Amino acid sequence: MKYLSTRGGGFEGGADFLDILLEGLAADGGLAMPETYPQIAPDVLDLWRYLSYPELAAEVIRHFATDIPLVDLRTLVQKTYTSNAFGSYEITPMTSLGGGLQMLGLSEGPTLAFKDMAMQLLGNLFEYALDRTGRRLDILGATSGDTGSAAEYAMRGKHNIRVFMLSPLGRMSAFQTAQMFSLPDANIHNIAVDGVFDDCQDIVKAVSADADFKRLHAIGTVNSINWARVVAQVVYYFRGYFLATSSSDQKVSFSVPSGNFGNICAGHIARMMGLPIDRLVCATNENDVLDEFFRTGVYRVRGAAETHATSSPSMDISKASNFERFVFDLVGRDAKALRALWRQVEDAGRFDLSKSPLFAEISERYGFASGQCSHAERLVTIRSVHADTGMVIDPHTAVAVKVAREHAEQGVPMIVLETAKAAKFNYTIREALGIDAFVPAVYEDLLQRPQRSVTLPAAAAAIKRYIVERA
Ligand SMILES: *Cc1c(COP(=O)(O)O)cnc(C)c1O
Repeated sequence: MKYLSTRGGGFEGGADFLDILLEGLAADGGLAMPETYPQIAPDVLDLWRYLSYPELAAEVIRHFATDIPLVDLRTLVQKTYTSNAFGSYEITPMTSLGGGLQMLGLSEGPTLAFKDMAMQLLGNLFEYALDRTGRRLDILGATSGDTGSAAEYAMRGKHNIRVFMLSPLGRMSAFQTAQMFSLPDANIHNIAVDGVFDDCQDIVKAVSADADFKRLHAIGTVNSINWARVVAQVVYYFRGYFLATSSSDQKVSFSVPSGNFGNICAGHIARMMGLPIDRLVCATNENDVLDEFFRTGVYRVRGAAETHATSSPSMDISKASNFERFVFDLVGRDAKALRALWRQVEDAGRFDLSKSPLFAEISERYGFASGQCSHAERLVTIRSVHADTGMVIDPHTAVAVKVAREHAEQGVPMIVLETAKAAKFNYTIREALGIDAFVPAVYEDLLQRPQRSVTLPAAAAAIKRYIVERA
């Protein structure tokens, strides 16, 4: 499988999976996309239905990572998707929410959020790729919570990899801070930056823009546009489908709590591969850039001042970085048309497809639907699921449940993707239910564990010096 850039340039001579594994953006600023989507016929689906999670992962990913020998890929996924790391051999357990709704659990991994599903594999893929080439890599990242901890738990103890994770001093929840700062591994560096999250992100951009420094110190990233992360997420759409159906002529729908459009982009890819998905429901919180687009055809990015801090913080985005991948397909993979749209985003902060024939295709051809959910509606949803099932769902999952209920259709199972455990957002659980969320046994003593971090000023020079001194 060869990869191309959504902007039409970037990968000279066509890149393979391992070539783009460690890269962020293509040289032309676009995102990596496979040249074609592998087509999975119904009789193959019938066979895949009976595979274990790691076996299924190998079958899906081998189509996209054709430059990794199959025996190696099998070893990597077997090492990643273990009952030890994900709580049970099912990896992604399914439970019923009643009323035709089911919930696929994606937060059984080490940091209790769905980012583990992809990041755990990424850690093993990085180590494998670096071992093959004898290279080393320093990962520089910025986090306001979930991504940083998922990256650290995936990269801890890996040889030839060090992680430098910037977080805004004193602005993460106690649980998230303890999750990251209590890791004892020598290759993990927690840097509390005296500033806000945007400062952290600006520093990462500034350091990455310094091409000499970046090359000299082999700086890489693990952000949500990484193609391997998207591919790893395709697997559980197949898994969810098999768990909700008994034969491969049935259809299902998915409701996906969305921020950067990475999760639901994987659903789009599964659908393009022939998985019988009826609707892909894009559920947003008050930050409704995506819901607005699917309802009106207008994509309008927001500024920092217009981005709300909500009780589902991992979905508080102002522009959705993976959205470009879907639009690339929507415009018929015409890189020139794509570039024209993104030029409009840069110049005017928006583009408008409401009068284009493409607008109808979004729903009719690609199956997308959408909706949004406010804080008050999250509280109501957490209460109603608790009353109906006894389960305590987290505020992100609550967004998807609320919107799923609006789109559920008779005879088509609606699968809600559960993206975090409630314990990570106990403040909101207390507000909704007046009780504390259940804390899994491995994290019972989390807040008492010794913590390790350094505090540095919000300046790229200070961060560079810190990395250099540790070389
Ligand atoms: C990252 C995250 C999301 C949003 O996923 P995207 O791939 O960015 O759309 C939703 N819920 C939780 C808990 C997350 O950590």
